[in-house]
Amino acid sequence: MVSINQRLDAETLVLVAEEFGYKVEFVTAELSEEIEQQEPDREEDLVERPPVITVMGHVDHGKTSLLDNIRNTNVIAGEAGGITQHIGAYSVKLENGRRITFLDTPGHEAFTAMRARGAQMTDLAIIIVAADDAVMPQTKEAIAHAQAAGVPMVFAINKIDKPGANPDTIRRQLSEMNILVEDWGGKYQCQEISAKKGLNVDKLLEKVLFETDLLELKANPNKMGSGAVIESSLDKGRGYLATVLVQDGTVHVGDVIISGAYYGRVKAMYNERGQKVESAGPSTPVSLLGLNGAPAAGEKFNIMADEKEAKSIAQRREQLIRIQGIKTQKHLTLEEIGRRIAIGNFKELNIIVKGDVDGSVEALSDSLIKLSTEEVRVNVIHKAVGAISESDVLLAEASDAVIIGFQVRPSAEARRAAEKEGIEIRLYSVIYDCINEVKEGIEGMLEPEKKEEVTATAEVKQTFKISKVGTIAGCLVKEGKLTSKADVRLIRDGIVVYTGSLSSLQRGKDQAKEVPSGMECGCGLDRYNDIHPGDVIEAFQIVEIKRSL
Ligand code: GDP
Repeated sequence: MVSINQRLDAETLVLVAEEFGYKVEFVTAELSEEIEQQEPDREEDLVERPPVITVMGHVDHGKTSLLDNIRNTNVIAGEAGGITQHIGAYSVKLENGRRITFLDTPGHEAFTAMRARGAQMTDLAIIIVAADDAVMPQTKEAIAHAQAAGVPMVFAINKIDKPGANPDTIRRQLSEMNILVEDWGGKYQCQEISAKKGLNVDKLLEKVLFETDLLELKANPNKMGSGAVIESSLDKGRGYLATVLVQDGTVHVGDVIISGAYYGRVKAMYNERGQKVESAGPSTPVSLLGLNGAPAAGEKFNIMADEKEAKSIAQRREQLIRIQGIKTQKHLTLEEIGRRIAIGNFKELNIIVKGDVDGSVEALSDSLIKLSTEEVRVNVIHKAVGAISESDVLLAEASDAVIIGFQVRPSAEARRAAEKEGIEIRLYSVIYDCINEVKEGIEGMLEPEKKEEVTATAEVKQTFKISKVGTIAGCLVKEGKLTSKADVRLIRDGIVVYTGSLSSLQRGKDQAKEVPSGMECGCGLDRYNDIHPGDVIEAFQIVEIKRSL
């Protein structure tokens, strides 16, 4: 039984409507779709466009140095002088006359945040790894994000000028992730470089162009422009300033532009050097003035012929966005997948696995992949050691994935983001439980009878060693209510180090039954003394939850 206030998902709507002999037509707040498609391009109108490249990698592996080197050695837009403005993207012209557009996003989180909004801006990702270091967690994340986006990768092994550099170690570590570089007989191009000394950067760019040439990137500059927003801001004197990447067609000053729920006439456009330009063609980044708001990064934009129409679409979208906000977010959950199978179509279950040690992450991922059946394929799109981060949640959102944490916890930001986006995070302490639940989910019979609910969190401020008693932790209760009977976990840097119960709970000198948030207390853990300041005590209870769809 469904109540009158409940929203149905698309598939159910279709089924119900069909019962009554109606057809369902879906409208969408998805932006470009309601805008009338321009005529399909004729082959002869298409011209080659420059590739759009993003550089990603672990912090300090040389991303900034590489971009700076490329910017300084390659004359920009055919004129002398460096780039003075930071606009999040710029176009460089190589010695051979070819152009490349670089997107300078703050990291792979931003890359995926944009993708989550539907914009696929990047044609190719350069993954930079320092040869005096190793393939690091963020390197793996960057690779996972690029792979999830289906973007080809070229590897830059950086800092080869350093005495401790060992590029082969990097190649080996990549091969362990099933990424075989070309010189090892694989399909991924790879170039040893020194970003600082500018060594081999030209060769790297050659390889990049070789890869992007295979993509045969083309666009039609003789139509109304469209593309995506890279960043936007409110400039005090000038109004809303949006940096956009034109992906197809051409944008001219004076055009009517719409992006998300905002629209306006392009008043002025500037290139990466802050110079005014009159028009911008495919793969060109520009900052433009004239929108009546700041669209989000990754939002698509279109040029329209008629200002009135743009206005009415913008208003409709605003309304849709508002309705969407009210509607509960719904992403694929284990229950959902079971239900969909009941309806009878093939599904993929994307999973992100985070764990406390590499061994269990690997073991769990392998076991989960083996659960794939004819109707359901299980994809582990990302696996890593460490706490569940906001970036994991973004990746889950973009790829419609479930996050599984084994003996790890989400950070506060990650938990908030997951709640907001409706991303399912499942936490386990026993591999077997996890495999079983996913299996049941796949078999369409998951009954989430019992779920864990966190009832309180407390931060350890100080510890006291008391003879015959053990370590007492002086804590501040941050959330919820800590009760003396609660089951608890001790969490250090996002990793569960102890699970058990409280041996004592005191407020001041007195025993306490419960301590509310904001209050300080002292507590001991049952048969466990290795407590450090900064640890978090998490109290939880097992609650029964009815199956819901
Ligand atoms: P990012 O965090 O990835 O943007 O890394 P940066 O470009 O800021 O580089 C981090 C540090 O590594 C800086 O101190 C750079 O000078 C240094 N670095 C970057 N590339 C090279 C290189 O090719 N060789 C050497 N020796 N140092 C480099």
